[in-house]
Amino acid sequence: MTVVIDRTKPEAPKTGPVSAAATARAKGFTLGLYKPRTPIYPKLVHGQWRRIKWILMIVMLTIYYVTPWIRWERPGALPDQAVLVDFAGGRFYFFGIQLWPQEVYFITGLLVMGALALFLVSALFGRLWCGYACPQTVWTDLFIYVERAFEGDRNARMKLDAAPWSFDKAWRKIGKHAVWLAIGFGTGGAWIFYFHDAPTLITHFWIGQAPATAYIFCALLTATTYAFAGFMREQVCVYLCPWPRIQGAMLDEHSLQVTYLRDRGEARGPHKKGQTWEGRGDCIDCHACVVVCPMGIDIRDGSQLECINCGLCIDACDEIMDKVERPRGLIAYDTDAAVAAREMRQTPVYKLLRPRTAYYAVALTLVSGLMIWGLTHRSALDVHVLRDRNPMFVRLHDGAIRDGYTLKIANRGFEAQDVQVAFAGPVGAKLRTPGDKAAGETLSVRVEPNQVRAVRVFVTVPAAAIAAPNMPAVFAARAGRDAMTVKTNFLSGAANAP
Ligand code: SF4
Ligand code: SF4
Repeated sequence: MTVVIDRTKPEAPKTGPVSAAATARAKGFTLGLYKPRTPIYPKLVHGQWRRIKWILMIVMLTIYYVTPWIRWERPGALPDQAVLVDFAGGRFYFFGIQLWPQEVYFITGLLVMGALALFLVSALFGRLWCGYACPQTVWTDLFIYVERAFEGDRNARMKLDAAPWSFDKAWRKIGKHAVWLAIGFGTGGAWIFYFHDAPTLITHFWIGQAPATAYIFCALLTATTYAFAGFMREQVCVYLCPWPRIQGAMLDEHSLQVTYLRDRGEARGPHKKGQTWEGRGDCIDCHACVVVCPMGIDIRDGSQLECINCGLCIDACDEIMDKVERPRGLIAYDTDAAVAAREMRQTPVYKLLRPRTAYYAVALTLVSGLMIWGLTHRSALDVHVLRDRNPMFVRLHDGAIRDGYTLKIANRGFEAQDVQVAFAGPVGAKLRTPGDKAAGETLSVRVEPNQVRAVRVFVTVPAAAIAAPNMPAVFAARAGRDAMTVKTNFLSGAANAP
């Protein structure tokens, strides 16, 4: 059958929505990238994991805010800030260590070490990093602390949000947001101190003389801290952070994680004082573990991508177990393998040493060893040699040949160095710099700490020692216990000589 499409007729007007977006608009809502956020009001809980989290929060925040203010004496005009990323000067200072841009492999090594340590900890203990040390967790915890201070605990906050605007609601909300912004500003402010001398920058910052990048990054960090810890919270972990997905590859059934011991908890159900515990589980279905969860999940549903292993549900459940006079630890750090074994009435086996934990431990040990060796054997001396290209060589009146080189000698140490330079290759080679009257077998070049000095060097070889138009040669430099050699060649054009 032939279908004839008549394009001469005007298209019939569309009577209804034609796309999903239009359908959504017609229904009065818009499509977003994420599902709408359901507000979470985590309840305050007390217990050992909460205590550990408070302590770690204080330690982490103190390290972050205080580090740029730690002074570390260095000689001469070198900065006396213990930790400083000096982009302008091209240096990274970390207490007694200073790294140059050419030594970026140390930073790479440090990142590899951090990643391997994270893999190992995750394989052994699940997402401990997420639950206790991740900046998103730490700052969110701090923001929730402020929120509680202004708006009260879970029920009070829910009531306040549902209530119409009033003076009481306004001052609480304004106060909370003002403190959040102040913390965000403090966080952005602390960040920029890692890149400049902190005492100088803080003065220049307030009088408008700091670099534009300092204001830009301070504003950026203020905004991201305020948004991430104040509003997005668990959404950062669920939607932005790749780690929850990656960690799936690190974990197995023997990884310790916050686990609901269903072998002990089920069958769950309400329990009245005086009722028997025979024939039922210990979980009284009180939801105390759910309302304290900052991720808004129910750990009794099993291990979930959202769970950051913070242990707060353990504290909440332990409180309940105390009240109903059952043993603590219905929710505990445990393994899926152990729960499954107990369900089959077998003795659980805990395996800390497994192929994956062994690989990570070996790799971490190797990289750490290499890093320690590299740092302890790091040479403060670095030499680069550039040959003169024009002219390539000069024939002197007595037939001797002179080649010119530029030596770039770096002193990566904190003390001035007298670097002894020698030239090995053609017999009888003599060195001098353009200002020297006499040439010698070695040159002494003084290089100030943390400086690169470029030196022009002439090497003269007697005519009798010229054996080939291009002879291999080596510059050897020595300063204290540091020594290095750089290969080059000595050109004479001898083959073309008359
Ligand atoms: S807090 Fe414990 S008893 Fe209460 S619901 Fe959670 S697991 Fe069950
Ligand atoms: S389920 Fe428990 S451990 Fe996991 S995020 Fe919630 S409170 Fe923390």
